[in-house]
Amino acid sequence: MNVSKQRILLLGPPASGKGTQADRLSRAFAIPHVSTGALLRSECARGTTLGLEADSWTSRGLLVPDDLAVRVITAWMTGNGPRFLLDGFPRTTGQAEHLDRALEAAGTPLDLVIFLDLSEVEIARRIMDRLTCARCGTTFGGSLHGLKTGDTCPACGGDLIRRNDDTAEALAERLRVYRESTIPVVTHYRDKAPGIFHSIDAGEGSDEIFEKLSALVAANQG
Ligand code: AMP
Repeated sequence: MNVSKQRILLLGPPASGKGTQADRLSRAFAIPHVSTGALLRSECARGTTLGLEADSWTSRGLLVPDDLAVRVITAWMTGNGPRFLLDGFPRTTGQAEHLDRALEAAGTPLDLVIFLDLSEVEIARRIMDRLTCARCGTTFGGSLHGLKTGDTCPACGGDLIRRNDDTAEALAERLRVYRESTIPVVTHYRDKAPGIFHSIDAGEGSDEIFEKLSALVAANQG
């Protein structure tokens, strides 16, 4: 029987397309998808204590503390079962080790770890051009789509906004955090699980990347 990969990590820098690709893969393969960034933004929009605490870090381009990130992802995984496509978690080796231990204890190992690789110049260009729908969370390149802040989301009709961490000040911090905290996560899985680790050039077109990812996720590949 053909069964696609069940437990997948999508790693990559800000604006590498993790969210967009995770969304497409989730629909194509019916694998539940979660973004810790989106979970935290939703907590913040609802004004929960956890959301407000998270915002004090995210708005400055910093990672939220590990225990907070682990708390939101654990709550999500408890409610969603042993199949998942994680986007934006783990972001530190502490989080990776926590996840590894939890999956080992549950006897549900990872099937695939994909790193979407992008140069810092391209990350900066995309972030400064990025618009996000306040309602559905879809992102758009403003110049590519001829859109600006306050326009209507082509996907759902919501308002297009600039995320409060998509600023020049927060960007420098996010790049530093990415280099110091998240690149070691990439190294962790490249070393620990080379058989399931794949690096993809995130500078290519969205459809080309989706084709490559789909081939990896489909049964008996990679
Ligand atoms: P993202 O939407 O993935 O770009 O995440 C937005 C922000 O949420 C990040 O810049 C962090 O402040 C926070 N965040 C998301 N995921 C994590 C995580 N796994 N660990 C710590 N902070 C996170």
